Parts: sequence; structure tokens; C-alpha cells
Amino acid sequence: MNAVLDVQEFRVRYGHSEALHGVDLQVREGELAAVAGANGAGKSTLVGAVAGWSRGKVTVTGSVALDGVDVAGLAPHRRVAAGIVLVPEGKGVFENLTVEDNLRLVRAARDARGRRYSVEDVYAVFPQLKERATKKCSTLSGGERQMVAIGRALRAAPRLLILDEPSVGLAPRLVLEVLQHIRQLVDEGLTVLLVEQNVRATLEVADRIYLLEQGKVAAEGSAGEMRADDRIAEAYLGGL
Ligand code: ATP
Repeated sequence: MNAVLDVQEFRVRYGHSEALHGVDLQVREGELAAVAGANGAGKSTLVGAVAGWSRGKVTVTGSVALDGVDVAGLAPHRRVAAGIVLVPEGKGVFENLTVEDNLRLVRAARDARGRRYSVEDVYAVFPQLKERATKKCSTLSGGERQMVAIGRALRAAPRLLILDEPSVGLAPRLVLEVLQHIRQLVDEGLTVLLVEQNVRATLEVADRIYLLEQGKVAAEGSAGEMRADDRIAEAYLGGL
């Protein structure tokens, strides 16, 4: 089966310091793939470079293909047009705008399956946003803000939705709620690459996981394989 996203031999350097040392990663059609790992492992660097956000003093080498088409040379907005939509960590919403205005900022596009997310469709995914439709985002909880950010990204009709730590700063109960919403979107046919620091929560929802350590893939496998790996249980799950 062809991968939706195929990243090979990916290296990212900030000036002379290399943050990613040759990463290979694939996201398959209709799956929830996750990149997990500690602070500073290179997760944000990886997804930022996939979306084409690393410019300036950043050097990226290796290949990035979406549905078999090389996108490595494309500017960020062209990658969005190709279907790679990244929701960055903690920066998803305009605080002074209402929920509805945040959603309307992106005109609803139609994806390859003909699916289109109207504002009402986003509310169907996240019913609590409908109740808050006329409220400014500054009044929302962290979990609700993430829902607005994800909802807005859905309106761009992503072929691949990339979420960089949507659970950051959320209370544990909300972490699972947001992750379960993401799982639901994948069950409805969306393809997602999720960045998560919390390996335990990631194992609950992801189909496959890449564990990133110091800029390298230290382990890769299905959630079941990862749970059965003693070294991973020891290092990330408190020996469970
Ligand atoms: P976090 O969970 O804290 O976001 P992360 O796994 O996403 O961590 P990155 O933010 O990608 O990790 O950082 C990977 C490495 O690259 C770190 O050593 C970091 O210091 C370095 N780095 C990240 N951004 C830059 C930058 N703009 N300039 C120089 N070095 C950077």
C-alpha cells in the first residue's frame, strides 16, 4: 500500500547543529500515526520541516512525498494546497475572535473524497463548540481551543492533518478527550500524524508510533508491539 506521507533520510540542521539525523517515517492511508518522545527529541522540528515551515538558517535534506509526489521543494502554502495541514503547538486560535469567526477564517475546501467541513460539520464533530459559537476564544478552556484549532484545520480539507502536541497544557481528563476526538476523525476516514509527548496516552489512540530520541527513530511499531516491548515499557510507561 502506498503511503500518504513518505519521509526518507530526513536531516534538519539549525546552523551547524543537527537536530534530526536521518529519519524515515511513513503515514498510511486512514491511519493515526504518532511521533512520541521527550522534550527536545526533535518532534516539532520533524513536523515543521514536513510542512515546509523551517526556513532561514535551517537546512533540510532528504525526501518528503505526499501520495508519491515529491513536495520537499515546495513553499509552505503550496504544501497546504497539496493537502499537508499542520496545527502548530499552542498557536492554533485567534484569542480575540469568536469561535465561529475563527472557523470562518478558513474557507471550506473539498478533499479528494468530496468531503467538505462546513461550520455546522465542525460543530457536529465538536458539539461543545456550537454552544460557545459566539464566545471569544480567550474565554475557552484549553481543550476547547484545541478543538477550534483542529476544526479550522479540517476546513482546509487536509489530505494529511498534522497535529503538534494538541494536548499540551491540558488537564489529564481533557488530554484523553481531545485525543479521542482525533481518533474519531481517523475512524471517519481522515489520515493523521500526531505529535505527543505523553507516550501512554498516545498508545491509547494511535495505530502506529514512532519513538523519537535525540533526533533519531529509536523504535517504531503498532501500539500493541510498543506496549509489548519491555524497553519501552520500562523507559516510558513506568515499567507497566
Ligand atoms: P518539545 O516537546 O519541547 O517541543 P521537540 O521534541 O519538539 O521538543 P524540537 O523542538 O524539535 O524538539 O527540538 C529539537 C532540537 O532542536 C533541540 O535540541 C532544540 O534545542 C533544537 N532546536 C529547535 N528549534 C531550534 C531553532 N530554531 N534553532 C536552534 N535549535 C533549535
